[in-house]
Amino acid sequence: MNEIWSQVDHYFTSKLHPEDPVMDAVLQANTDAGLPAIDVSPTQGKLLYLLAKMKGAKNILEIGTLGGYSSIWLARALPEDGRLTTLEYSPKHAETARKNIEHAGLSDKIEIVVGAALDTLPTLSKGFDFIFIDADKPNNPGYLEWALKLAQPGAVVIGDNVVRDGRIVDEGQDDSVEGTKKFFDLLSASSEIDSTAIQTVGSKGYDGFSLGIVK
Ligand code: SAM
Repeated sequence: MNEIWSQVDHYFTSKLHPEDPVMDAVLQANTDAGLPAIDVSPTQGKLLYLLAKMKGAKNILEIGTLGGYSSIWLARALPEDGRLTTLEYSPKHAETARKNIEHAGLSDKIEIVVGAALDTLPTLSKGFDFIFIDADKPNNPGYLEWALKLAQPGAVVIGDNVVRDGRIVDEGQDDSVEGTKKFFDLLSASSEIDSTAIQTVGSKGYDGFSLGIVK
């Protein structure tokens, strides 16, 4: 199935996305630097951009930068005085992202904070209006707790890779699936956020994302 999913993704991209040499260069730079190709797909990146635009986001938090591909999509949705803070553990990934962000002309809008996100999240101030969680999945429950602490009322919170080829419904799984299940337990128990989750297929396989609004 992946072949037809990819073809359809490419069809949508060719129809709905203008030529994008900056994004093409980001993906090439990531490959050249030896980063894993685990960034969001072009259609998912455009979805993040559109959601941030719909929200009118001005202060975005991203957990999990990689080479800055999704950071750049999101930051493109920001107004002139908007800011995006992105958290990344790997200095090598952060340095690749820094160069990509500079090339995209967004250095004045994006701050990369290097370190383990659970260590750097407590250094941030409350008031984010859009939060994208896309780092190591075993820590997803902790990331959601911090997202709820740092969000302003009405903030959008998105969690990526929550389906994991359908393994979310299997018993006895790896740490990433266990982390994602605990993430859903928290979402389900929390009275602070109203949420749902959507399954997706595409060039990145079978996965999905959760989407919620902080009350
Ligand atoms: N959001 C990126 C995109 O779509 O372009 C992809 C992010 S990738 C799926 C996950 C990133 O989280 C990796 O770069 C990884 O180094 C980073 N990461 C892993 N553990 C982390 C941690 N404890 N704190 C912060 N970042 C972490």
